[in-house]
Amino acid sequence: MSKPVIALVGRPNVGKSTLFNRLTRSRDAIVADYPGLTRDRQYGTGRVGSIPYIVVDTGGLSGEIEGVDPLMAGQVRVALEEADAILFLVDGRQGLIPADEVIANYIRLFDKPVQVLVNKAEGYDHALANSEFFQLGLGDPIAISSAHGDNVAYAVDKVLSELSEKEEQDEFDADEHPGIRVAVIGRPNVGKSTLINRMIGEERVVAFDMPGTTRDSIFVPFKRGEQEYTLIDTAGVRRRKNIKEKIEKFSIVKAIEAMEESHVVILLIDGSEGLTDQDLTLLGLAIESGRGLVLAVNKWDNLSSDQRQWVKNELSYRLQFADYAKQHLISALHGTGVGDLFKTIQAVHSAAFKRVSTSDLNRVLEQAVLEHQPPLIAGRRVKLRYAHLGGLNPPRVIIHGNQVDKLPQAYTKYLINVFRKAFKWVGTPVSVEFKASE
Ligand code: GDP
Ligand code: GDP
Repeated sequence: MSKPVIALVGRPNVGKSTLFNRLTRSRDAIVADYPGLTRDRQYGTGRVGSIPYIVVDTGGLSGEIEGVDPLMAGQVRVALEEADAILFLVDGRQGLIPADEVIANYIRLFDKPVQVLVNKAEGYDHALANSEFFQLGLGDPIAISSAHGDNVAYAVDKVLSELSEKEEQDEFDADEHPGIRVAVIGRPNVGKSTLINRMIGEERVVAFDMPGTTRDSIFVPFKRGEQEYTLIDTAGVRRRKNIKEKIEKFSIVKAIEAMEESHVVILLIDGSEGLTDQDLTLLGLAIESGRGLVLAVNKWDNLSSDQRQWVKNELSYRLQFADYAKQHLISALHGTGVGDLFKTIQAVHSAAFKRVSTSDLNRVLEQAVLEHQPPLIAGRRVKLRYAHLGGLNPPRVIIHGNQVDKLPQAYTKYLINVFRKAFKWVGTPVSVEFKASE
């Protein structure tokens, strides 16, 4: 199975967003390097224990009796249907109230593993707090504190390890999907299916259709020239009998999974509609995923020259925080620009996996510091001593020094730009992290 999806449910104010933030903090290193990025507060990825996951905050369920039916509608239901496990938060300080029981009955309908978490339990007798909520009939509650972190990793590990025992045989196996793995993501109707068919073209090989639920994407291996690729098809092209038959239900979870399993992400935008909020949500998640990123603005054939100018302005103005991603103006329908798209995919892939030596890194760091000194903090200069490469795809530069926690974000941004230029890290996020040393 790909990363398990856990959904947070509960009344307003029980602490879901506090828990969500704690559960998704592991990606902060990348996100922090992109000031201006509005982070999606509903979907995220993370790892607090031994198993990584995708987490969805369903927002508040009122749990009012007359509001039961509306619960069944909309986003909450989609999120719960897609979830592998449900974390049901209750407020240990307030105690059990009828609305909790309404929500308990609701989530029981989904027949998924549920763990009750008794939140705000710091400084409380855990056994006592739990006993009250045992009455919900959803098994043994675990007392936690989202704010302080008590028991959070333990609870998540417990839920996820029970899940993975059941699903172990379905592990995502990268070796089965050769070459550069490219995820094509975008809102419904932006032209994903059209683009995928264009990209695969005549050189299509037998599709590797993974059995699974509708949440899973389909992996399509093909070759173009000498280069092997595997397209990760979130639009479900290969499942349909023809292109008109739509089976896609837009799923952010599916897009996140596809990105996680890819090397390079193509975010497809419909040029005739301009940038929408959903495009920006997907863009934020793409940056957070750390993968190489290409922005393809589709349906360019359909735009007047005035519209083209307007879209170009909009893109350069609103996407400044993602300026490392190359923008392609394409027509999937006519095939215009698709060849160039492949060139960029290759370039981005090799940049994201390029190894640079420690000595080169340090030479560049030294030069950067010479040209533009870190600031003085309370009369002492921030010292950056040495750097090493902490990972690839995305490249992560770890810099050791002192007072590094006081460095302003602008300086981090400056360093990212210097490294990006020096090592030609095109089209991939670059993360710079600091470690305090004596
Ligand atoms: P949501 O509406 O369920 O998303 O709840 P929030 O995460 O916004 O939290 C609601 C309030 O509870 C905020 O004032 C939080 O600071 C507080 N809170 C969240 N978790 C804890 C906790 O573990 N302990 C305590 N004491 N307060 C918490
Ligand atoms: P998906 O839902 O993202 O997979 O989108 P589709 O590939 O099904 O395309 C949605 C609609 O947009 C279809 O009617 C396509 O023919 C049309 N379309 C896709 N690409 C282009 C393009 O480059 N130009 C124009 N004019 N229409 C396009």
